[in-house]
Amino acid sequence: MGTNAEEVSVFKTHHSNIPVFHHSYSKQSEPCSEHLFMSIRELKFHQAINRFPDAARCRLGSIPDNGGKLSGADTMALLDIMDLKIEELMIDLLPVAGIWAVAPISEFHVGAVARSLDSELYLGANFEIKGLPLNQTIHAEQAAVMNAWHQGAKKILSIAVSAATCGYCRQFLYELDQNQELAVITPAGESKKHHAEKLSHLLPKAFGPLDLKMKSGLMSSPEKPVKLELKTPSDDPLILAALKAAERSYAPYTENYAGCAILTADKNIYAGRYAENAAFNPGISPLQTVIACMNMDWTSDQLKIDRAALVEHPSKCVQKGAAELVLASFAPGVPLAYHEAAIIE
Ligand SMILES: [Zn+2]
Repeated sequence: MGTNAEEVSVFKTHHSNIPVFHHSYSKQSEPCSEHLFMSIRELKFHQAINRFPDAARCRLGSIPDNGGKLSGADTMALLDIMDLKIEELMIDLLPVAGIWAVAPISEFHVGAVARSLDSELYLGANFEIKGLPLNQTIHAEQAAVMNAWHQGAKKILSIAVSAATCGYCRQFLYELDQNQELAVITPAGESKKHHAEKLSHLLPKAFGPLDLKMKSGLMSSPEKPVKLELKTPSDDPLILAALKAAERSYAPYTENYAGCAILTADKNIYAGRYAENAAFNPGISPLQTVIACMNMDWTSDQLKIDRAALVEHPSKCVQKGAAELVLASFAPGVPLAYHEAAIIE
């Protein structure tokens, strides 16, 4: 169980021989800091981990390099160094996770930390996109879970959130395996370090995957990826990354298997998978997923995006129009290569 190289490669790959044409997307409008060689986000990260003991900081320093992930070994070492329970460490990491928040509409920064079965901790933060309806917002809990899923985690035991978990996220989390037992942890003021409640208590009499005869939930799916074939063959690494993400997407209710990939100017390809929800609306689109995961791997103040690609199996649902709309606001001028795919097994 836990992370494996095959799953990680679905999330991010580096290509040195892809030509790039730069389109800039600026996530911050704050003035430059006096730290000339450090971005504002890096500066905030270092300020946040300065609150931790010296011995802990070198372990925490791995988080930005690992796409917002703390390994199981680093987590166990931190618990030992700081003499904390893992729930307490997760609460302490919430301000660190919040550094990745992009909230130009609400200016309300939310951090989340998801714990895997192997005690890996995956950070997530809310991401709002100006110029789009509010329902395109990615919540911090969604970002942390997607980060975990894309980096190969198979099971989430608990999730800590810096603010009360909204109803939308409770329904989103109910799509996970072992949804009844999932613990949701929130800060509980000065006198008490945290408050933990089971999702079954936060969302009683819930409607979820089992009601639609599913045998497993989001994190353990797909046991066997669906095999898709592009209707128009391509050897473009960006298209193939989107295809691979589509094959591993979670679309048990519509078979609208879909994946998105983004090529950055530094020649990294990020890929994101579609994740449906039994209640439909709290699902997350492949483009939202790739934006959320890419954001967690991003410490510079400006990201240059070259191209984007969407591969999907159109069914009663189609991603194309929504993806074009979101991309036009997120990264104006960036072209979206679109490919339909057929299920071959
Ligand atoms: Zn929420």
